[in-house]
This record gives sequence, structure tokens and C-alpha cells, in this order.
Amino acid sequence: MRIALYALGGTISVSGRAKGERLTGAEIIAAVPGLDGLGAVLDVRDAQAVPSGSLTFAHVLDVVRAASRAVDEGAAGVVVTQGTDTLEETAFLVDLVWRHDAPFVLTGAMRRPGTAGADGPANVLAAARVAASDAARGLGALVVLNDEVHAARWVRKSHSTSTATFVSPNAGPVGHVVEGRVRVLAVPPRRPPLPAGYDASVRVALHCVTLDDDGVGLERLAETHQGLVVAGFGVGHVPGALAPVLGGLADRIPVVLTSRTGGGSVLRHTYSAPGSETDLQQRGLINGGLLDPYKARVLLRLLLSAGAGRDEVVAAFASHG
Ligand code: GLU
Repeated sequence: MRIALYALGGTISVSGRAKGERLTGAEIIAAVPGLDGLGAVLDVRDAQAVPSGSLTFAHVLDVVRAASRAVDEGAAGVVVTQGTDTLEETAFLVDLVWRHDAPFVLTGAMRRPGTAGADGPANVLAAARVAASDAARGLGALVVLNDEVHAARWVRKSHSTSTATFVSPNAGPVGHVVEGRVRVLAVPPRRPPLPAGYDASVRVALHCVTLDDDGVGLERLAETHQGLVVAGFGVGHVPGALAPVLGGLADRIPVVLTSRTGGGSVLRHTYSAPGSETDLQQRGLINGGLLDPYKARVLLRLLLSAGAGRDEVVAAFASHG
């Protein structure tokens, strides 16, 4: 059995030997005890060596294309090592376009190699076990750290330094790695894959609403951006004064309404004050459902890159949200 592993930089690759020096994929896996007993060969490729904040949609989709070829040529699964900062977004981007049953597993580390309790080796071993596991087939993109398996659709980075930073507030982990065995407890819903085309000129902004936010300058956003995600208060509310600004934008570009809380869904028909979810939907905002702002932005940018019109955007959020 063959697993394709792509190394994309991040903390798991920070060598600590010399400023800026990074471990290669081969060096990362050389530090992992127990890989011999995996029953699979890791086919390691160095894709990018950057902090994950510097990854782009293009980088990620290039890796998806390479991984897709590897699976077509017989790889049973895929592992990507990368920085954890943007993992929740890259994983969801992969999940939206991944067309195989073979597991696509993303992992990383919170502690640098060589430090006390470095978590990279354990995470790589667990990720490789999941990538090689029949139980993980058909689940799309998965995030594996801390011996937990999270669906890309739900996972979030919730802490700046903890090794238990990855959580899925709406669903919990979909599985665990226990004594080397992959236990899947829940099957995340899968939707048909979206086109993996990407147009770098498509810009989607994210505006997080704050107390007393008057949105000055927001109305000019449609001149530079093709879409906007609003991270609203609670169930999808904004200050009343902001509602006409967002409504004006929604006449020109798709504007998706999400919650800044980090868990739960925006509502559809409970409140009716200016700036409420009902008011904003009447002004043309699209309901993001259970998608958090970061994931909603990934979906909207991918859709607009593929040339989706308003009806397709509405339909996609109705299905994915
Ligand atoms: N936490 C950073 C990341 O998500 C690591 C920074 C680095 O790799 O230099 O990639």
C-alpha cells in the first residue's frame, strides 16, 4: 500500500537549527517512530515550505491536483503536513473539490521539532494511519491531530498554543486513533465535488461586525471585491445602521451572512428588527447556515472563481450551509 505525503512547511517543519531553515518531508518522517509497522510506504514530496499564513488557494489546489494523480496511479490515501494557522481553511478547500474515496488527511504540529513534547511525529503517525484506513474512505478531507479525527467541514483552530487546539464545535471529532486503530464514530455528509478551477483575480472579503460598527468605507468594497462574507453577531445580526450598507452591497455582489460566535447556525426567521437575520435576508444577503465565516469565504471564493452566478451561489450555500 502506498500513501502520498506532501510537506507544506509550518511549525512541523521548523528545524530550530538555523534561522529560517526547515525540515524536508523526508526529515519529518525520519523522526516518526512506528511508521515501519504501518503496512504502507510513504511516498514523500516537498511541495511548499512556508508558514501556513503564506499558503494560497493556488498552492492548495496544486497539491490537490498532484494528490489526485497519485490516487489515480494507486495511492490508497494522502497526507499533507502544513502549518496549523490556516489548516481549517485549506482542509475545507480540499474537501470541496476532492473527488476520490481515498482519505485526504491534513496534519501539522503545535510544538516545533526537537522541543519537549513535540507533537509532530505523533500527528504524522496518526494521520498516516487514517490515510491508510478503510474506515476513513469516503469521508473526504480530514484533519488529524492529537489522535482525533475531524471533518474538514466542521474543524476549527480554537487555541493559539494548545496541542488540543483543533475542535469541531458543531459536531465533535468524527473519530479517534486508539492504540493505533482508527475508530470512526460519525460520517460527515458529502456533497458532489465542486470544480477545482481557480481565478486569482477573484477577491472575497470578510467583514467581522463589531459593537457600534458604522461600516464607513464598506460600500466601496464592490469596486475591488466580487463577494463578501459578513461575520455577524450571534444568530446573524448587525447594527441597524449597517443593514442598508450591506443591502446596497448585496445588490451588486453576493454577500453571505454568518455568525462570528464560532459555533451554531445563523437563523432565518426569528427576529425582525433592522439589522436582524430576517431584515438582512430581505435586503438580499445569503444565509450561510452552519458555515463559519472562514469556511463560508472559502466556498464563496471557489464558487465565484468557477464563474458561479447568484443563483448557483444561493443553491450552494443552501446545500453546504
Ligand atoms: N504557526 C505557523 C503556521 O501555521 C508556523 C509558522 C512557520 O512555519 O514559520 O504555519
